[in-house]
Amino acid sequence: MSRVYNFSAGPSMLPLDVLNTCAADMTDYKGSGMSVMEMSHRTKVYEAIINEAFDTFRRLLSIPENYKIIFMQGGATTQFAAVPLNLMNKNGKADYIVSGQFSGKAYKEAQKYGDVREIASSKDKNFTYIPKITREDIRPDADYVHVCFNNTIYGTHYDYIPDTGDIPLVADMSSCILSEPIDVTKFGMIYAGAQKNMGPSGLTVVIIREDLLGNARPDTPVMLDYKTMVENDSMYNTPPCYAIYVAGLVFKWVEALGGVEAMHEINKKKAAILYDYLDCSKLFKPTAEKEVRSLMNVCFVTGDADLDADFCKKATENGFVNIKGHRSVGGMRASIYNAMPVEGVEALVEFLKKYEEEHK
Ligand SMILES: *Cc1c(COP(=O)(O)O)cnc(C)c1O
Repeated sequence: MSRVYNFSAGPSMLPLDVLNTCAADMTDYKGSGMSVMEMSHRTKVYEAIINEAFDTFRRLLSIPENYKIIFMQGGATTQFAAVPLNLMNKNGKADYIVSGQFSGKAYKEAQKYGDVREIASSKDKNFTYIPKITREDIRPDADYVHVCFNNTIYGTHYDYIPDTGDIPLVADMSSCILSEPIDVTKFGMIYAGAQKNMGPSGLTVVIIREDLLGNARPDTPVMLDYKTMVENDSMYNTPPCYAIYVAGLVFKWVEALGGVEAMHEINKKKAAILYDYLDCSKLFKPTAEKEVRSLMNVCFVTGDADLDADFCKKATENGFVNIKGHRSVGGMRASIYNAMPVEGVEALVEFLKKYEEEHK
């Protein structure tokens, strides 16, 4: 078997243990005589799978009882519409912090549904930092404030949780969920696409405070109505059954490692190996401001686009794949999500050093 070190920003690597379990279960899941892919979602055996996924996820993030967990479809991008449809319904106003491309898209989508304001942005420096906001920046009658907690493309992560007072804070955590402990009670709602840190694409996880349910606009598609989803245990229609099964295995894998606290320690160690090298390198430079660097997406450049391209090519030839940066930043991006082993980062740093040595 040959596996590469896959630095893809998403869909991204999954733990090998999880993939092996999937393979072992593939044609006969626990004596059911069928694959999870072939199973009706209205069976005892599948109900056990989805319920265990819900329970493990709740334990991992210590999600209080007054928060509901929903398994949805359509990716994080569908949430860009679902959030205003469900939550922008008291005063028809919402405030957005734009710290990268995804939060910009969320902001643009929300404008279809009401009075939406960008209250802060880091666009002036190509999103290399996280805007600082205080309560005074928020409109007192905003229905919610939206942030993107880890900016996948620019490699930045919030170093604070904005204080929004009584106004619900909504966070896109697609690329950092389960990478660190998080105080869920500071948020009204959190959402995340699965394909970065949880499982295959096609599944989106929503965590929402109970009192925010039941206020959706009348024209909200039923599939985007959080209340309907909660009342039907995320099975109003056929859920993404297989993706939920894989995510459930990933949740168990994180739990077995010691939970999100242990995961966070490993992630800090991995990121430090890479950033420590980049900070000393004479060839490669990290692009994000130091205090807000992401532990998940490490962006760096040489400053010479041709050299960047050459590096990416050589990296691929040597088994370090998908390391090319997003076209809006250029250079390189090593996404080192939970499933990337420490050895993968160590091997990458060795390769970077060798490349630097050859390009003095
Ligand atoms: C990947 C990503 C998205 C988009 O996710 P889709 O599942 O492709 O819709 C949105 N926000 C963040 C922070 C992401 O990393």
